[in-house]
Amino acid sequence: MTEDESGDPKPETIAASFGVASDLSHAAVVPPLYLSSTYAFDGYDKPGAYDYGRAGNPTRDMLGQALAALEGGAGAVVTSSGMAAVDLLLARLRPGELVLAPHDCYGGTMRLLKARAGLDQFRIRFIDQGDLREVERALEERPVLMIVETPSNPMMRVSDIAALVLRAHDVETKVAVDNTFLSPVCQRPLEFGADFVIHSTTKYLNGHSDIVGGAVVAADPEQAEELAHWSNVAGSCGAPFDAWLTLRGLRTLYPRMRQQQATAMSIARYLADHPTISKVYYPGLESHHTHAIALRQQKGFGAMLSFELKGSAEKVRRFIQSVKFFTLAESLGGVESLVSHPATMTHADMGAEARAEAGITDNLLRLSVGLEAESDLLAGLERGLSAC
Ligand SMILES: *Cc1c(COP(=O)(O)O)cnc(C)c1O
Repeated sequence: MTEDESGDPKPETIAASFGVASDLSHAAVVPPLYLSSTYAFDGYDKPGAYDYGRAGNPTRDMLGQALAALEGGAGAVVTSSGMAAVDLLLARLRPGELVLAPHDCYGGTMRLLKARAGLDQFRIRFIDQGDLREVERALEERPVLMIVETPSNPMMRVSDIAALVLRAHDVETKVAVDNTFLSPVCQRPLEFGADFVIHSTTKYLNGHSDIVGGAVVAADPEQAEELAHWSNVAGSCGAPFDAWLTLRGLRTLYPRMRQQQATAMSIARYLADHPTISKVYYPGLESHHTHAIALRQQKGFGAMLSFELKGSAEKVRRFIQSVKFFTLAESLGGVESLVSHPATMTHADMGAEARAEAGITDNLLRLSVGLEAESDLLAGLERGLSAC
């Protein structure tokens, strides 16, 4: 079948082939890396397509175009980190304007929102986005922006993007969905009407834990341009080499994600049946409290899950000392499996009371499931659990 007969290329084709064999200088199959910070003018008063690396870079732009295509957006801005991506959306806010965010959002996002709101750059309210009544009440104040994160970290609570967008757009509130935990392989928020998608490309999109980066994808071309303008104004752009590495990571995004989530599902089932475990949080399990929404809005359940050990917190120490193939580290989305202990690591700053409110007990562990053989990962977990 020719390309015309088959219609638009499939997302996995876009991911695997974006920019491949497009080099006009030497016909390099892999797109070249442009490191130059400056570009020669064609002549007097005649700039070329690029003039200065903060405003634009061919390698970074290629990644932005790939991400926009994968998320179904009009354009994307590639930033130096996921936090810089969130901050880019905040750059345009005026004092007094209200932003809504989930009460259990990523810790760095919460810190950024509180810090900027603390300087009166805008107002912030944290709400439970699983409670649509609470969302409706908060929207009565006509916020300019609502940040959504689904699934949440580390409890994997899934919120209903379409329901949130419907209510937000009623009062002209823009919606930005942080899609870091799932990637466009499993969820495409713009299909549900969201205005922006936020990514920490540090995680699944790059997938090899060797860069820190971010991106904002916009549904509307004018919004995409305005964000690109602000990125140039504020200098939040990502580095070309990081963009090049992320393009390389992106080529295997689909098979990586599919393999990792298949293993995550097996691990979730194994943990759910294990006598030393009291709870497993994975949206793919029928028992998960927001499984129905995940089934409707996601194309896959992802490769992140968390679970609670029965008994005292001492068991956590024994588990971590004995588990194999899961490295004790923060972050997620790489080819290597990681285990983290939210109470002493990612969520330590929150304080015990806020953690208890969010359901994050001292016995909760979070897994980022990688590409190792499923049988090895199950055996590695069994080793940890039998030591508890
Ligand atoms: C990691 C992460 C971020 C922040 O991204 P950085 O690249 O670390 O700045 C934002 N949101 C979510 C959900 C994340 O996991």
